[in-house]
Amino acid sequence: MCGIVGYVGEPKEKQAKKIIIEGLKRLEYRGYDSAGIALYVDGVFETRKHVGGLENLEKIIGDEKFNSHIGLGHTRWATHGAPSDANAHPHSNEDNTVTIVHNGIIENYLELKEVLAEKHGVKFKSETDSEVIAHLIGINYEKEGDFLKAVHRTVDMMRGAYALVAVCSHEPDKIIGVRKDAPMIAGIGKGCNFIASDIPAFLKYVREVLIIENNETVIVTKDDITILGSDRKPVSRETMHISWDVDAAEKGGYEHFMLKEIHEQPEGIRETLTKRIREDGMINLDGISMTKEDIDGFNKVYIVACGTAYHAGLVGKHAIEKMARIPVEVDVASEFRYRDPFVDEKTLFIAISQSGETLDTLAALREAKKKGARVFSVVNVVGSSVARESDDVLYTWAGPEIAVASTKAYTTQLICMYLIALFMGKVRGTIDEKYYNEILSELKAMPEKMKTLLAQEDKIAKVAKKFHRKENVFFIGRGPDCGVAYEGSLKLKEISYINSFAIAAGELKHGTIALMEQDTLVIALDTQDCLFEKMLSNIVETKARGAYVIAVAKEGHRDIEVEADYVIYIPDCRDEVSPILSVVPLQVFAYYVAKERGCNIDKPKNLAKSVTVE
Ligand code: GLU
Repeated sequence: MCGIVGYVGEPKEKQAKKIIIEGLKRLEYRGYDSAGIALYVDGVFETRKHVGGLENLEKIIGDEKFNSHIGLGHTRWATHGAPSDANAHPHSNEDNTVTIVHNGIIENYLELKEVLAEKHGVKFKSETDSEVIAHLIGINYEKEGDFLKAVHRTVDMMRGAYALVAVCSHEPDKIIGVRKDAPMIAGIGKGCNFIASDIPAFLKYVREVLIIENNETVIVTKDDITILGSDRKPVSRETMHISWDVDAAEKGGYEHFMLKEIHEQPEGIRETLTKRIREDGMINLDGISMTKEDIDGFNKVYIVACGTAYHAGLVGKHAIEKMARIPVEVDVASEFRYRDPFVDEKTLFIAISQSGETLDTLAALREAKKKGARVFSVVNVVGSSVARESDDVLYTWAGPEIAVASTKAYTTQLICMYLIALFMGKVRGTIDEKYYNEILSELKAMPEKMKTLLAQEDKIAKVAKKFHRKENVFFIGRGPDCGVAYEGSLKLKEISYINSFAIAAGELKHGTIALMEQDTLVIALDTQDCLFEKMLSNIVETKARGAYVIAVAKEGHRDIEVEADYVIYIPDCRDEVSPILSVVPLQVFAYYVAKERGCNIDKPKNLAKSVTVE
């Protein structure tokens, strides 16, 4: 969950402090309750760390010279021990010869701690699970007299998930990293090399990247990057060229990444879509190895994901069931993996994850694979763990998403859901040519329609201003709108901390309607022509109890004004694809409510972008 940056450069240039802090800034989205840095100065790795955002760390090290050419940095997302100066990484052993940063959880840390305390008299400085690693490497170094061997001996004693990066003052020109179920990449610079949790950390200096696979070790020096496989023998790795520029990971004039990313949605959709449509209008899922035989052989689809991606799955279920006429179950990954689900060779398992590093999704995927399912994933980050462990990957081309609250990843995930549904429907013969072409041209029209919708931003901002003090908000919808209601509600609660709640509109009367009272705010999605009147009745039910209703409806349904207090219109489109549009006003509404409430929009409290813990 955290952000890791390691850098080693020319000894005479001494740029480590500046470059590592720059890198951490770009990774802050991964975790941000504290930050720390270790730099090699006069024969030792000096550590400075501070609770809170990176700016706190910068304050305490601002004036220190730290002339150094090698070091590590970390932004923490606490799992073991509260955010504090002492618990912040890096951690060192007692004689300060070994310093580490760690992302993940060491499951047997209590056991290891006990041995270290009893056998070696170690006095711990933090409550973290991570600190044991530094002590163990130190002790193992005394036995082995070799840094790499000491790291390997330590890793062999650890259970859990980790991206571990270590330095040692006995061998001060190298950084060693080992990963298991947490992301790690190395970057090839000019006269310098890097190790990090994600590409934006070193994008300013690096275009060629090496992906470190699970259970591999990487040894980074100024001139060289060596990767060792799980058998600890050298492996060769092709470099990946990164074409996106640094600006793509910057705010580009917007006040927040979230707003920028909301506005990038038309482009993200276009990218995700057009690369998959051939000149003759047919869907071309390049690189997908699933054959007609495979598709005909499936008797069930599982869509498994977490958070926003799970909500994309809820919409995906409607699309796949309607177009490919195959039963679809949608499940949250943390539930799926522990309930021995009915999965076999006839199951198509679809994992959705923006980062491709979501640990729960990854574990569910492995579970499904073990049971023989065909694993297909929808992922934004190229080369991520979910992508690599899937039989087939359909990438969302949303570009880097920095704001913790997902927007453009969600709408591009929806596009992928429709592409899969159409593709499978066509292969299975459950949709005809006319329907296929109609949906495809609806999808192609989405970027322009979304732009018109985004032109209503100021109007939505005004509504948000009016309601930003509400403490309870209800989102309701039917059919695909129900999935959108869940997503709108999540967006609002994530960034504005308002207690919001989403429910299938038909379910209201079975309990939740008890909460409706004078001026309760209800956001009602009513974009399905076939369910329009049913939904209207649900709106009336809430109004009869005093609710104030903001409705989201299609342009063609101006008659909704009779019942709703305020209406946000989306451009007309077919029912199937309306979720791509109807979520947008909800994202904008959540953004402006959070802004009015003075919230930290891009980095909401208690949340992190890439959830690599269970
Ligand atoms: N488990 C470690 C801790 O709580 C690492 C957390 C992280 O990944 O930031 O310090």
